[in-house]
Amino acid sequence: MPRETYSLPELPYGYGDMKPCISEEQLTIHHQKHHAAYVKGANAVFEKLEKAREENADLDMKATLKELSFHIGGHVLHSLFWQNLAPEGKGGGGEPEGELAKLINGEFGSFERFKKEFTQAAVSIEGSGWAALALDGKTGRPVVMQIEKHNLNMYPNFKILIVLDFWEHAYYIDYKNEKAKFAEAFWNIINWKEAASRLQS
Ligand code: MN
Repeated sequence: MPRETYSLPELPYGYGDMKPCISEEQLTIHHQKHHAAYVKGANAVFEKLEKAREENADLDMKATLKELSFHIGGHVLHSLFWQNLAPEGKGGGGEPEGELAKLINGEFGSFERFKKEFTQAAVSIEGSGWAALALDGKTGRPVVMQIEKHNLNMYPNFKILIVLDFWEHAYYIDYKNEKAKFAEAFWNIINWKEAASRLQS
């Protein structure tokens, strides 16, 4: 039976719709080159696994699974990230409402304090990574995650409500070394409705 493979999801908006926070060039390359590379990478590792199974050949499992985790992590996080964005003033920006606002205020004390912790998690990443707000389904508490690469420092099974790509490839064309400016701009294009619907599901 043919197995399903990963494919690059379409963006739910146009490449130019995130201006001025993210330029058309930056968003296009990010989606069509970087995200696409993780899709291709994950599928390639599965092919390698399948081939080795057919031939009953040995594999360097440590290296293979490390590679698979990296590419699947990259694909899954990018897919979540695109949905976490909406054009400024057209669904993007503002503040969380309802249950999500209550959850954030209950944990962090205020929206401003949450923003501060999330932003600092992003800008203090060593090397490449992501900042995320995730929900512990057991305690119902939201937790800030600082993900290294695409797959390290993650809390297993926590649901990701918000994720911000803080790899250099996410902002370098637009912001160069001024990454704090990119973190600031994110709050103008964050899609709170998407975060709220993840909380409900
Ligand atoms: Mn990226």
